[in-house]
Amino acid sequence: MTDANRTLFERAQRVIPGGVNSPVRAFGSVGGTPYFVDRSDGPYVWDADGRRYIDYVQSYGPGILGHAHPTVLEAISVAASRGTSFGAPTEAEVVMAEMVVERIAGLESVRFVSSGTEATMSAVRLARGATGRPGIVKFAGCYHGHGDALLAAGGSGVANQGLTGCDGVTAGAVADTIVAPYNVVPELDGTVAAVIVEPVAANMGLVAPVPGFLEGLRAACDAAGSLLVFDEVITGFRLARGGAAERFGVTPDLWCFGKVIGGGLPVGAFGGRWDVMEHLAPLGGVYQGGTLSGNPLAMAAGRATLELLDDEAFDRLTATAARLADGLAVAFNGAGLQTVLPRVGSLLGCFFGDVAPANFDEAKVLADNGIYPKVFHALLERGVALAPGAYEALFPSLAHSDEVIDETISIAVEAAEAVVAELG
Ligand SMILES: *Cc1c(COP(=O)(O)O)cnc(C)c1O
Repeated sequence: MTDANRTLFERAQRVIPGGVNSPVRAFGSVGGTPYFVDRSDGPYVWDADGRRYIDYVQSYGPGILGHAHPTVLEAISVAASRGTSFGAPTEAEVVMAEMVVERIAGLESVRFVSSGTEATMSAVRLARGATGRPGIVKFAGCYHGHGDALLAAGGSGVANQGLTGCDGVTAGAVADTIVAPYNVVPELDGTVAAVIVEPVAANMGLVAPVPGFLEGLRAACDAAGSLLVFDEVITGFRLARGGAAERFGVTPDLWCFGKVIGGGLPVGAFGGRWDVMEHLAPLGGVYQGGTLSGNPLAMAAGRATLELLDDEAFDRLTATAARLADGLAVAFNGAGLQTVLPRVGSLLGCFFGDVAPANFDEAKVLADNGIYPKVFHALLERGVALAPGAYEALFPSLAHSDEVIDETISIAVEAAEAVVAELG
């Protein structure tokens, strides 16, 4: 890594823990010095030294249109000219809520927050308040943000940092959290308020739900009187206009959104049926609020983004992801590097092994086999940026043209040959 990035990282480490504001950015699991982004455009980011990368991080999902989309920038700028935060409701929040209700079948009411973490934390509190029960079932390897009750056995950065749990989370905070293996329908009893799940697990690489898993969760929740919560922070407005619920034909009681819904600004949302949502203050006794919730800039960016995501856009994005997955499989395997690239719609993962994992235990074996960091650096040196951690998905965007994908694939051939040579 070149001088400007190194200098910035040294300065950052003096004043920010680990030099970063979110752990995975520190390159801890791949080694080396992180690049600092100076600017971006479409599929590209440029670092502090002016080096260009084809970017598959895309902010871990928000960049579904690619970086710095002119329509989104214009919407933010128009909104900003009217003021940035009021502490009073605005028309933009109503329009965004109507857009979400219109897109997500079964979701009747929605509240906006400022992050995915806030959305899942609030959904858990609401589920407990609405059912009068304490228990929360989550699945190993699913990441639901950094709220205390949901950090246990999280994938993503939690797995990347090698943390087994998390210091500072009390036994009391997780006493009602039950962790179950992904892709197996757990038994529920009358103490379970909610089952929360990533309908496609995208924080342990990419692990697809096996046929019947999501349907089985729906049936188990109905039988036990528990609420089913889909954490669609990654899948929402990405797998289809109506997200994973539409794609798989399974309707949860509550949804959590983030990432795409904010178009690159800080937004999360949670919503569901009226009989659940009416437990929220000021209608009901479950308190939840936020100074910047429904922020006008964030609503403007989210609205501009969702308006550009029509059925044609999802088809195009899926075709782009398929071209990338197929091309990388040929590039890596052709060089002698055994690779599987599981894909659901536009979401893909990359595991160096022969069988796509079905749960966290299987994902860990492949994610920790030491090959990902080598491939990561071989690609980065050649101008392709994957996430700096084997537990993250790849996020091709609508700005990744066929030419950009094909350039990525030819770079991947060279990178794979270099890694194979290094491995001997
Ligand atoms: C990223 C993510 C979150 C947390 O969202 P933040 O905006 O980072 O707080 C929650 N759930 C899932 C599935 C995520 O991928």
